[in-house]
Amino acid sequence: ASVVGIDLGNLSSKIGVARHRGIDIITNEVSNRATPTSMEPRSHRSSLISFTPRQRHLGEAAKTAETSNFKNTVGSLKRLVGRSLSDPEIAEFEKKFINAELVDVNGTVGVKVNYLGEPATFTYTQLVGAYLSKLKDTASAELKQAVSDVVIAVPGWYTDVQRRALLDAGAIAGLNPLRLINDTTAVALGYGITKADLPESADAPRHVCFVDIGHSNYSVAIVAFSKGQLTVKSTAYDRNFGGRDFDFALVQHFAEEFKTKYKIDVFTSPKAIFRLSAGCERLKKILSANAEAPLNVESIMNDIDASSSLNRETFESLTDHLLSRVSNPLEEAIAKAGLSIDQIDAVEVVGGSIRIPAIKDRIQKFFGGKTLGFTLNQEEAVARGATFACASLSPVFRVREFAVHDITPYPVKVSWEKEAGNPDEDTELVVFPAGNAIPSTKILTFYRQGPFELEAQYAEPSVMPKGTNPWIGKFTVKKVEKPATGDLACVKVKARLNLHGIMNFEQAYIVEEVEKEEVVVTGEGEDKVEEKKMVKKIQKKGDCPVVSQYNSAPETIVNDWTEKEGKMHSEDKLVMETENCKNALEEYVYDMRSKLEGRYATFVQAKEKEALLAGLQDAEDWLYSEEGEDATKSAYVQKLDALKVMGDPIVLRWKESEERPKAAAALREEI
Ligand code: ATP
Ligand code: MG
Repeated sequence: ASVVGIDLGNLSSKIGVARHRGIDIITNEVSNRATPTSMEPRSHRSSLISFTPRQRHLGEAAKTAETSNFKNTVGSLKRLVGRSLSDPEIAEFEKKFINAELVDVNGTVGVKVNYLGEPATFTYTQLVGAYLSKLKDTASAELKQAVSDVVIAVPGWYTDVQRRALLDAGAIAGLNPLRLINDTTAVALGYGITKADLPESADAPRHVCFVDIGHSNYSVAIVAFSKGQLTVKSTAYDRNFGGRDFDFALVQHFAEEFKTKYKIDVFTSPKAIFRLSAGCERLKKILSANAEAPLNVESIMNDIDASSSLNRETFESLTDHLLSRVSNPLEEAIAKAGLSIDQIDAVEVVGGSIRIPAIKDRIQKFFGGKTLGFTLNQEEAVARGATFACASLSPVFRVREFAVHDITPYPVKVSWEKEAGNPDEDTELVVFPAGNAIPSTKILTFYRQGPFELEAQYAEPSVMPKGTNPWIGKFTVKKVEKPATGDLACVKVKARLNLHGIMNFEQAYIVEEVEKEEVVVTGEGEDKVEEKKMVKKIQKKGDCPVVSQYNSAPETIVNDWTEKEGKMHSEDKLVMETENCKNALEEYVYDMRSKLEGRYATFVQAKEKEALLAGLQDAEDWLYSEEGEDATKSAYVQKLDALKVMGDPIVLRWKESEERPKAAAALREEI
């Protein structure tokens, strides 16, 4: 088994792997070829999928393909998974960042793209599944072993439906998520586990405020640390605040400028917006370290190369509507934690957008000038924490015990119909209030004369992402019968908020009061009296059969998606292997041709050379013919093998002549 942690970011994802010497964040793009072609450091793995007439590209390859194929390139994976097309937040916040066509698929949101020359529809659950399967390949290539157990970090504000959808996506990818961990909790775990100086549990805990501002999202968590444990005190979010919003503010600014400067309206061309956004992101990053930055966008539209520049001051006034929101989640989190600002011992910031100086300033100002901590790696902190979490749940490594007490942000209530003959019975109960621990089990007691139903839903829809269906699930308890005594049956129902932050009804059983003879001891020493007595006891009588139903895709559908993903995955693999075999043939042609004039020249007879050169020429002509351009893997392999039959004896002669002096030298040394 392997230990892997995934930070599913909206712009880019990060993967952590545990080895005996510690946790590494995979920084090299692992190539599937035997010899890696690109080993440049790259902790960023674009969270994108690009569909083309030939194949799918996932991650970095999709980023490369995006410019020419942006309408069939899909991102915003974590934003849309588990949501419905009709959710108002999709129109309000997401649509402007999405170029592919969004469609409804049985109530959940999906995309319509051109894939293999035909229109195809995928739900976001499928897309995340495909993307996770790419991350799984990357991790398993790095670890040189199969990967299954993972911990995936998700925003703390993810709802039940989103969490269930992500688990389904994990299943599609063939992963076994041991836990969905809230991302700021993962950051806190990574922080706590490396700190040797945490207060003893008898002393006051250390309160740390974690801030993560990424591409799409802004999260805050206030966490209390003591030796060996952390407790999340409160969380707060601006779900629609991140680097992309800053980019968009710049896009709007330059779009306006270009109307007069170049007489173009970029908003009439999705491609122009796409190019301008990329330019604005570059400019924004330069502005984090410089007072002024240039903007250059080649052929933005109508063959115009657009250019401009911006200084930091203008940037800050253009984004003032965003900057003024920075303090809101901080304020909310502090209030919810019941602390005052000066009770916060440290502020640790992570996420790419924390690099914007104006954001840093606002946070610092909020905390009365306190120095912000950058002790955590801004890009890797979430993935590192998720990997720690995976290590502590997996039997593979022995890790230091570190208890994580997390909480749920949304209250969950359970409701039912009144039992006839019991007019005073309540019909609902908030079972898991906001701030309830995760995981947590609650036993509910019902007095019933027959089967009954329970429904779970979010108790306060107004605090949820807009458009969230508050309904979580339904639980039917069957085979409840009146006991012989004529009383109502006492039924216990087990409700659980599990480690993923998902709520389930787990079990229902009937209990009975029975009278039992027991030895009761009273008094002590000489006054001790033993007496046999009948005592009333609660005793479990038996499980009730139950049926539960939740707001997630039916198992048969998930199985179908898994099968389809498996097929697409192997098709992608075949396309890639075919490409590799084609490249190998091409390489052989050029390599052999030049070596026949070079190192092999003295080892080849004229006739032989002529035949081989002719063969190489044939292969080259074929490669550039319509047939050879797009042939099967075995066709490339066959051509290469045929050339090698002629070429190998020559190579062998050369090799032997190279080895001979070496062997002779070795022999001399031995003597
Ligand atoms: P999310 O957490 O919202 O899902 P993510 O994890 O993919 O997204 P990060 O990798 O934390 O996001 O951050 C990416 C964002 O940070 C992008 O918007 C990027 O433009 C921005 N960013 C990166 N470096 C800088 C910089 N030097 N200055 C300003 N912004 C930056
Ligand atoms: Mg992030």
